[in-house]
Amino acid sequence: MIGDLLQESKAYLDFKKDLSSDKISHAYLFLGEDKLARREYMRLFASTILCRAGGCGVCDTCDKIYNDAHLGVHYYNLDGKMNVKLAEKLIEESYKSSWEGNDIQDEQLSSGASKRIFFVDNFDATAPQVQNKLLKIFEEPPKNVIIALFASSDYAILQTIKSRAKLCYLPKFTSEDIHNELVKEGYPRSIAEIASALSDGSFEKAYMFVEDDSYYNQYSECFEVLKNCKNSTMVVDFIGKPIFSKENIGRTLEFLSIILRDVAIKVSGAKTPYTTRNRDYDIQLISEGYTMASIAMAILEVNQGQAMLNSYVSATTVAERVLFKILEAKYKWQ
Ligand SMILES: [Zn+2]
Repeated sequence: MIGDLLQESKAYLDFKKDLSSDKISHAYLFLGEDKLARREYMRLFASTILCRAGGCGVCDTCDKIYNDAHLGVHYYNLDGKMNVKLAEKLIEESYKSSWEGNDIQDEQLSSGASKRIFFVDNFDATAPQVQNKLLKIFEEPPKNVIIALFASSDYAILQTIKSRAKLCYLPKFTSEDIHNELVKEGYPRSIAEIASALSDGSFEKAYMFVEDDSYYNQYSECFEVLKNCKNSTMVVDFIGKPIFSKENIGRTLEFLSIILRDVAIKVSGAKTPYTTRNRDYDIQLISEGYTMASIAMAILEVNQGQAMLNSYVSATTVAERVLFKILEAKYKWQ
């Protein structure tokens, strides 16, 4: 589970330390790009605070939290469409003295267990008006309320809010973490291999790739292209392949870029681990004949192809140019 990885993260361990010394903040700002990890972290965070055993994962409280049915845990802006009206609703809710159906009068509960938690996801996508509205909660914190903001970055977040929230960074996963996790979850190794390589450290992306195994064939074909494309006649054959169609070329360039970056690692002799997995032999084959200058040039040309696609240049033109330029780089820069 992503949850296991999150539990080992620095963000979580620091937070647990604060909790055990009764130093938790009433406002947090968590930064992390992976939406799935953010969502999972919210549940972990809530269960750690509200569960009597600090997030046992099996009690009634944890069960409710993991099923998004706990009345003390509120989620806002999961869809990134929060407006001022919803911000007002959040404020109103947060100042209510107690929540319906709660049993916080139970004296055995620890101080944490009586808290209510308000999560706001995609906070960096909210308008300044929404942020300004919510500022009230940060300036006059409602009793027993924790507000936890989640965002990809703090770039678009008002300074007045940032300065009042405790900043924490969610962990970034390695492709190996993701690979191991997917295998543990029972995905075939071949699928886990590509999904983790392409995930860029994001579970959100990795799951997108495991859902669709056509990506695997496309990825394998990219290795074939780089291994076998040796002259201009072959370029012409290759650009007719489905991986260079209008629908697929964007992804194909992404794959080529990932593979070529590993080739660059191979050529440079750096100790950096590859992003691709179990393809060392292919990387070795492709790297033959490349120098550092020529591989750098080839990577640049792939990036250039991506930029051209974004400017609506046709797939065929981009494919042709990229493949010729890769060939040219290889021979010209030797
Ligand atoms: Zn529990």
